[in-house]
Amino acid sequence: MAFEGLAERLQGTLNKIRGKGKVSEADVKEMMREVRLALLEADVNFKVVKQFISSVKERAVGQEVLESLTPGQQVIKVVNEELTSLMGGEQSKIAVASKPPTVVMMVGLQGAGKTTTTGKLANHLRKKHNRKPLMVAADIYRPAAIKQLETLGKQLDMPVFSMGDQVSPVEIAKNAMEKAKEEHHDYVLIDTAGRLHVDEELMGELEEIKALTSPDEILLVVDAMTGQDAVNVAESFNERLGITGVVLTKLDGDTRGGAALSIRSVTDTPIKFAGMGEKVDALEPFHPDRMASRILG
Ligand code: GDP
Repeated sequence: MAFEGLAERLQGTLNKIRGKGKVSEADVKEMMREVRLALLEADVNFKVVKQFISSVKERAVGQEVLESLTPGQQVIKVVNEELTSLMGGEQSKIAVASKPPTVVMMVGLQGAGKTTTTGKLANHLRKKHNRKPLMVAADIYRPAAIKQLETLGKQLDMPVFSMGDQVSPVEIAKNAMEKAKEEHHDYVLIDTAGRLHVDEELMGELEEIKALTSPDEILLVVDAMTGQDAVNVAESFNERLGITGVVLTKLDGDTRGGAALSIRSVTDTPIKFAGMGEKVDALEPFHPDRMASRILG
């Protein structure tokens, strides 16, 4: 499971005060010191940790007493609520355009899981929302990307629009939009090219596709295993493109959790989905409250 180390440590720390009939300010202080260390070790952004600790402290000391909970449980409840709010509070749903098709640009660095996530999202939209998406193979630089998306399309029995790798991504996007309108697709999922790092050329091309397709959603796909780097990548993409949501992939791996806990507050962009494996059905809407409960046990 994701965040195992963090979960274990936080649970251990919180268990010490769970049953306490009385919680002193010193108890809270001691506990918060341990929570702080656990978060830093999980690669959570330094500023985020600081803000988190001060909100919990403020609320945990001198809060209203609920009769149904022991003081220890109340502190844990505060930690849970603050963790939830750190990850965005309410679940944030994928956009729906008032006039179809809804255009979704999938962006991110190479290897983050963009192509896989495009297939997963198409599957999710059909299965859970009864939609008819068109996937668009616009990653012409990674040699296997077009084939990979076509294979996913075959596997899902869902259409993939491609024009090979000799046509510019902007041209592909333009033709795909026409095709989607003709064939009444209600979602267009554009799998754009990634690079090994954020560069000028990549961003310029993405800006062009954005200008041409006026996407309702720009989803940044990031690898949760990369921790703080994922947060930095999200900041760069957000500055240039204005992303509307994040998909955190590989949360099934033994990520330390830093990305999941920092991305929302650093970029002010909601995490919309979590990738939980390599298979096409391993995509889940991201629920901050469930994730917090999972971490706290
Ligand atoms: P792209 O370069 O961003 O298009 O990345 P790919 O979609 O090709 O994914 C890169 C690798 O990550 C592939 O081996 C995928 O199977 C794997 N991958 C993608 N998402 C997940 C996930 O949520 N969990 C796991 N375990 N692997 C994933």
